[in-house]
Amino acid sequence: MKNDEGLDFALSRTTGRMVDITMVERGLACDCICPSCGATLQARKGRKNRHHFSHYVAGSAAATCEGGRESALHAAARYIIAAWRQIELPALIVRDGGLQDSLPGRTFDVVHTELPDEQSRSTFRGAGAVRPDVVLYNGQGEQVWCEVRVTHAVDDLKQVRLQGYGVSTLEFDLSGMYRLGGWTLVSLELALKADDAIRRWVFHVDQARLAQQLRERRLAAEEQRRDQLDLQNARQPHDPVDSPPHGEDEEREGLNLQDCGELIPHPAMGLIPKDPSKRLAFIERSYPAPRCYRLARAIAFLRHHPHGDSTCLVTFGSMGSGSRTSEYDALLSEFACSAGLSCSYFGIPESRQVRGIRCHELLDAFLTGLQAETGSANRNSSLSIET
Ligand SMILES: [Zn+2]
Repeated sequence: MKNDEGLDFALSRTTGRMVDITMVERGLACDCICPSCGATLQARKGRKNRHHFSHYVAGSAAATCEGGRESALHAAARYIIAAWRQIELPALIVRDGGLQDSLPGRTFDVVHTELPDEQSRSTFRGAGAVRPDVVLYNGQGEQVWCEVRVTHAVDDLKQVRLQGYGVSTLEFDLSGMYRLGGWTLVSLELALKADDAIRRWVFHVDQARLAQQLRERRLAAEEQRRDQLDLQNARQPHDPVDSPPHGEDEEREGLNLQDCGELIPHPAMGLIPKDPSKRLAFIERSYPAPRCYRLARAIAFLRHHPHGDSTCLVTFGSMGSGSRTSEYDALLSEFACSAGLSCSYFGIPESRQVRGIRCHELLDAFLTGLQAETGSANRNSSLSIET
């Protein structure tokens, strides 16, 4: 079907920006060109087929443009990423044998953006130079590079070169989307921001350090195990060794995640258990003790993230009949939004993860206020529960 060759995005002659099919007039009135070959495009917005852009050909000659669709998706993604003022960096996960370690994700505030393909800065020029698709800078001069993959992944050679630059590089893998088609700027941005399955670190400045620590931990554990075996054999030379040596149990306890079953990467927390009940137990264990707030027909818990004050976990629990937790949840989202905090669903019912500067302090004030506000209602509801 012709649809599969159609472009989801095009370059607007009027604005010089990427647009999607929903943003333009039908036909040649869209005033767009192909980001790959520069030819005029027409917007096909009929009733039968999925709306798309196609190369405009006068007469009957067929358009020959290879990679127009690929370039259009690539350009749209770059355009979206370059406009971000904030990006949620995913967790870094490093594995060595059966061991794994992770660094939690974090919020990166963008103050400046570069598109090296459209600039002539010497850093990104010359033979063998890596030109990332988008370069993001924060206020401290720290950089994150972004690579958009449509059909070609960052290959080994490029990965080696990236190490030479020493800048953490995120890859957004759109190869699955490329096959699907039917994207708009809004749906593409949502996927780029929220779909953890398409983002991965192709290089991270802390990767080598974490890998080295894991290696040392593995070697130390192996050595300890050998020592324990030697000791056991020396003490009981005639007993068969049929249970795991003691050292293994100690190691398991130290690792903390080993008894949590299957793990999944969480953008903020790093590796967490996949099983929701184990996940809750893991959070109970790794987060410091919570602060409690008594609200009308509910109780709220506020916890610090073990990695710092800029991330908190808020949980609402029902008390008595007629749960109001969803109401509180909505108030929390509203407050977080007005206070410039990011508030996201955490994978556990009634729980939200809130992130931002002075997060704990602001949330404490909010929940204390909510407690005072619903205090009288709380007393009433307590009475009604008791009777
Ligand atoms: Zn083209």
